[in-house]
Amino acid sequence: MFAKILIANRGEIAVRIIQTCKRLGIETVAVFSEIDSRSLHVRQADEAVYLGPSPSNTSYLVKEKIIQAALKHNCQAVHPGYGFLSENTEFANEVTEAGLVFIGPPADVIGTLGDKIASKALAFKAGVPVVPGHNESLADLNDAATVAEEIGYPVLLKPAAGGGGRGMRIVHSRDELDGAFKASQEETRKAFGDNTIFLERYIVNPRHIEIQIMADQSGNVIYLGERECSIQRRYQKVIEESPSLAVDEELRKKMGETACALAREAGYTSAGTVEFILDQNGDFFFLEMNTRLQVEHPVTELVTGLDLVELQLKVAVGETLPLRQEDVTLKGWSIEARICAEDPQRNFLPSTGLITRYAAPQGKNIRLDSGIEAGSFVSVYYDNMLAKAISWGETREEARKALVQVLNRHHLEGVITNVDFANAILNHPAFIEGCLSTGFIDEHFDNGVMKIEPARERLEFMAIAATLVYHNRKNLVRESLKPMTARVGAAQKQENRYHYVVKGETTIFKMQLLGDMNHNNWTIEVNDNQYEVITPDFEYYRRRLKLTIDGLPEYFRLQYSGNFIWAAFSGITKIFEIYSPLEWELAQYMPKETKAVKENILLSPMPGLVVQIKAKTGDRVYRGQDLVVIESMKMESGVSSPCDGEVDEIKVNPGQAVESGDELLTFKS
Ligand code: ADP
Ligand code: ADP
Ligand code: MG
Repeated sequence: MFAKILIANRGEIAVRIIQTCKRLGIETVAVFSEIDSRSLHVRQADEAVYLGPSPSNTSYLVKEKIIQAALKHNCQAVHPGYGFLSENTEFANEVTEAGLVFIGPPADVIGTLGDKIASKALAFKAGVPVVPGHNESLADLNDAATVAEEIGYPVLLKPAAGGGGRGMRIVHSRDELDGAFKASQEETRKAFGDNTIFLERYIVNPRHIEIQIMADQSGNVIYLGERECSIQRRYQKVIEESPSLAVDEELRKKMGETACALAREAGYTSAGTVEFILDQNGDFFFLEMNTRLQVEHPVTELVTGLDLVELQLKVAVGETLPLRQEDVTLKGWSIEARICAEDPQRNFLPSTGLITRYAAPQGKNIRLDSGIEAGSFVSVYYDNMLAKAISWGETREEARKALVQVLNRHHLEGVITNVDFANAILNHPAFIEGCLSTGFIDEHFDNGVMKIEPARERLEFMAIAATLVYHNRKNLVRESLKPMTARVGAAQKQENRYHYVVKGETTIFKMQLLGDMNHNNWTIEVNDNQYEVITPDFEYYRRRLKLTIDGLPEYFRLQYSGNFIWAAFSGITKIFEIYSPLEWELAQYMPKETKAVKENILLSPMPGLVVQIKAKTGDRVYRGQDLVVIESMKMESGVSSPCDGEVDEIKVNPGQAVESGDELLTFKS
């Protein structure tokens, strides 16, 4: 085995590779850019080499520096991870020419398979079904129109150099073609410095199923089951699982053997993935082959019990595969969610900043592959994927529930992530049923928000968590005043029954808490439902809360400000307002009395920060129209007009902090 290797990557995948090396007693050399100098992968490696300024093209993409570092530090091999130089033919070549081992397939194989047109031709030769289309570079728009007519709309324009879904455009009819062709060419040129585009039939609502293969230098090729990666946003995978509900034993064998045939035809070695699209008739078609370890490889590891990095290392050193096809068994189910620094509420714009708090869940049947920790800085320079949460279960449902809990417990502050969005997917009834297709997110989500109402019980759990936190905070204040009121307090016997009214946007929950703050057992009534709740000790009510509700552990993330509590749970995020019955009653009367006076004024319903003002003086607005957007406890909410009218004066500016009840704008009477 190698004594020392260099890892030409960063983040979670570098950390992941280092872990296997440690277990196998292989020393590791990390590389890093300026901004990564204190990052996790650097600290975990035995040695580390500085590459240059933060941008990738002056650091992680500088081939010569990486190869020199490997030589200087007496490495025998280079592991490229995924992304960066992992599918770069020249890099693989130069590594080999320098006398080092490239941990991956031969350079020329990367070259052929990296080109979608060439790899489709190869697949065709190997007898692999390919998506019907015209497997040649399109000369111009006229050519595209002719070819599209032949194939039949809808068609998909694809860059030959493709990756990450960039440059792809669906075209439904001839009149969409001109615009789509230009846009695709433009994007392709920008992303890949090349504008070779081809056309294939667009398959409607397919599933994305891929086969993990492993090949050694003696010609042995095996497949390690499938992964379903149909949950995609803009052709980028969000949730992956293994096995797939759509694949039975027979189909698995057929797809697996097809993938192996392609790998043999290509002269492939190392780990690779053959991606297929499975249409609604159960027919599958080759999409592309990825010549590297994939982001979602952990789900395969959890169901096969294999370490793919270990297998890569063994094959690279020349060993034969330690197992044959018949030794491969799939056990249970595994699901992965990609955790990315992006804001679903702002059209998934990347989010950057310093991670101020990070609690990564751990436990049985949970795996968290992460490249970050508290203190890490998330920059604009690299991919925004921070970590991956992976779960295992005997059944799909068990794995799903475990992953939901991992995401509920994934507490990260400082940058906005897609954790709640991913969790909402896992909690969607269609996901639970397994009705998956690549159109899933567009079909069921609107701007990152589920199109249907969340389950009532989930909301009641959240109302319970919010009320307990509120109650606890109120009592802590009372406790702190105790010395002053000790005598009075002693005389007042605690009744141990507390009532609250909770408003969660349009839903009202009537809460009755039965219990004692010195004990951790509560009986809680929410409207007509009753729950037995075990709470932590009062000191532990923080920004995350673990409650045992009717015997099962549930985890919540919370933010609070006065009567307002923001809660995140099972993909639902909501602001709750909590009142005592008296406060609530007053609140009911108050607006009625003051309505006449307040009609011309738009008040802020909550404390927060003004993000955007959507109206200007003189605008005619209608009742219910959003006029001001306020960010409060990580959520953006629109404040809508209480009347039809004309805006008279705007009283706030974007960026300004407001209290609940502050005037936002006035209307002409
Ligand atoms: P990339 O190199 O960007 O990963 P792929 O060819 O693997 O490109 O395609 C990415 C995704 O785009 C697929 O997972 C699938 O969702 C969609 N896709 C690709 N080709 C087709 C097609 N012919 N019909 C329908 N969807 C497709
Ligand atoms: P247990 O071992 O009791 O099952 P866990 O392993 O689930 O508890 O939790 C371990 C730690 O996580 C505890 O210190 C607990 O306080 C903390 N924790 C509680 N609630 C949350 C939450 N919502 N998110 C993340 N961590 C939490
Ligand atoms: Mg792909």
